[in-house]
Amino acid sequence: MARVFNFSAGPAVLPEEVLKQAAAEMLDWQGCGMSVLEMSHRGKQFISIAEQAEADLRELLGVPPSYKVLFLQGGATLQFGMVPMNLLRGKKSADYINTGEWSKKAIKEAKQFCEVNIAASSEDAHFTYAPEQQKWRLGRDAAYVHYTSNETIGGVEFQWTPDTGDVPLVCDMSSHFLSRPVDVSKYGLIYAGAQKNAGPAGLTHVIVREDLLGGAQRGTPSLLDYKVQADAGSMSNTPPTFAIYIAGLVFQWVKRQGGVQDMQRRAIERSSLLYGFLDQSPLFRNPVRKEDRSRMNVPFTLADDRLDEPFLKGAKERGLVELKGHRSVGGMRASMYNAMPVEGVRRLVDYLREFEQKHA
Ligand code: PMP
Repeated sequence: MARVFNFSAGPAVLPEEVLKQAAAEMLDWQGCGMSVLEMSHRGKQFISIAEQAEADLRELLGVPPSYKVLFLQGGATLQFGMVPMNLLRGKKSADYINTGEWSKKAIKEAKQFCEVNIAASSEDAHFTYAPEQQKWRLGRDAAYVHYTSNETIGGVEFQWTPDTGDVPLVCDMSSHFLSRPVDVSKYGLIYAGAQKNAGPAGLTHVIVREDLLGGAQRGTPSLLDYKVQADAGSMSNTPPTFAIYIAGLVFQWVKRQGGVQDMQRRAIERSSLLYGFLDQSPLFRNPVRKEDRSRMNVPFTLADDRLDEPFLKGAKERGLVELKGHRSVGGMRASMYNAMPVEGVRRLVDYLREFEQKHA
């Protein structure tokens, strides 16, 4: 069986070791005679799986004890609504940084609940940079400040952590969660859909400071109340048990590799290879300001879009798949998450070079 190099933006490549372990344990999890898929979420086996997953995630990111780690459903998209429902706490407005397609979605949803102050935006340059903190115009009475630290479609990544003083900083980290160290104490709340670096689809990681719990607005369904979920250990109803199990295997894999520090080293190696090639190429181009380029998601275009189809066809023939850009922007995109081997990026760059020699 030949595995491809999968550059999908998510669901995305998972470590082979994780898939093999899940396969080996599929019928009989550690001698208990059943699959994780068949276990009660209240049974001691599954409770131990969930507790281990939480402990490992805490260790990987150095999550302080004053923060809750939640394993939720509904994707990062549900967080776009849960954040204002829970964190407005009587205030009327929130600050949002608009850096692209995912910020825009978070903003649109927040507008259902509060006044949104766009404190900074990179729309003036087609969302190709991360606005510097000096340019942010924070509102006087904002309940929180929200930003998207890695724009999966635009390929813009904040390489720095904003400082919002006493106003809680809320971050959609979906597409670079666990790819680098993070100082959790600088945040009020972090959320991330798991299906990129941190598990399969169906699971959303939330890390929230305890003092922000308990203020959900009236009418918030209890499942969408962080406090209810925190008090129930994310099990106020049946959690996505298999997704939590696979995420737990991914956390253990990251630990064995040397943790998020090592993930960062690999991300730098992969992304430097690809940007290094793109920047000297007459045929391919990435539009993002250099210091704000994503190490996870690299959008690029060909000088002539009639070459898009032949490019993708040739890539597929070489086992390089899911390189087509997001439907909203076109072009190409290579997503290179934690589990993408450097070898995959070398092969991609070899192919880019070969294609360029033929067509430039
Ligand atoms: N935010 C970002 C940055 C994303 O990349 C995505 C998904 N690609 C989402 C939010 C939405 O996530 P989900 O599909 O899990 O709701």
